Amino acid sequence: MRGSIPTPGHRTSRYGGNTPCVEIRVNGTRFICDGGTGIRGLGTQLMQESRGAPISLHMLFSHAHWDHIQGFPFFGPAYVPTTRITVYGARDGDTRMYRLLNGQQLSDYFPVQFSDLGAHIEPGHLGDGHRVIEGVAVSAIPVAHPGGCYAFRFEWEGRRVVYATDHELDQVLTNQSRSRLDPGVLRRPPPDLVEFCRGADLLICDGQYTEAEYPKHIGWGHSRATSAVDLAVLADVKRLAIFHHDPMQSDDDVDRKIEHCRDRVLRMQGGTQVFAAREGVELKMGK
Ligand SMILES: [Zn+2]
Ligand SMILES: [Zn+2]
Repeated sequence: MRGSIPTPGHRTSRYGGNTPCVEIRVNGTRFICDGGTGIRGLGTQLMQESRGAPISLHMLFSHAHWDHIQGFPFFGPAYVPTTRITVYGARDGDTRMYRLLNGQQLSDYFPVQFSDLGAHIEPGHLGDGHRVIEGVAVSAIPVAHPGGCYAFRFEWEGRRVVYATDHELDQVLTNQSRSRLDPGVLRRPPPDLVEFCRGADLLICDGQYTEAEYPKHIGWGHSRATSAVDLAVLADVKRLAIFHHDPMQSDDDVDRKIEHCRDRVLRMQGGTQVFAAREGVELKMGK
């Protein structure tokens, strides 16, 4: 699972080289966050599981950077006439994402037009940033990223999962100057983001950079993994999946990044369990 660009090869085979795509399945309802190249494998799996029965999906795109939309033309269920897909914009009347998916399949880019896909695909919206979809409370909040990006939260029967890819926490810290002077100080993201993540069973969070890499990438729109840790600790998150690994990082580099994150949890006296997002991994949320 890499950010920015697919990164196949032996250096990335353990955590995976595809770009972002996460399925969140709640009591039979399927949500898909982002359509990076990982969506191709998910599509194959969904079609095998469904054995010809109609597939219904809710798709939420954090934003339209290539690494988050490029897999969609290779999503098998989109070619099946019985499939229904709702593509959500974050706000009422916002059909931008639906239009951009259409645009990336213009004939200069791809042989099959969006309008020729067999599935019934329609735009939807999250109202003013919150909507209950088939009993699941889905919320969106804007995060700091060039061109804009949204984090999404899913809540059902007391369980809470937050998908927060592509955001640069270090740009919006409320105690930024202090934390730069002293790396031992807990970095404080904006209170509304902390509340958004409060008590999550799982936070899937941009943690692209190590401490050493970040100074060369300030303003690129991604977080230090250790800043994702601080958000998780402040918000009492149970499990933190460090996500959107830098394409330059080998799997061994990712392992070292996660070790630093675990050290930081201890130093900040948190209880969050940290691990690296890995392709194909399935997590079950118990009560
Ligand atoms: Zn990205
Ligand atoms: Zn992006």
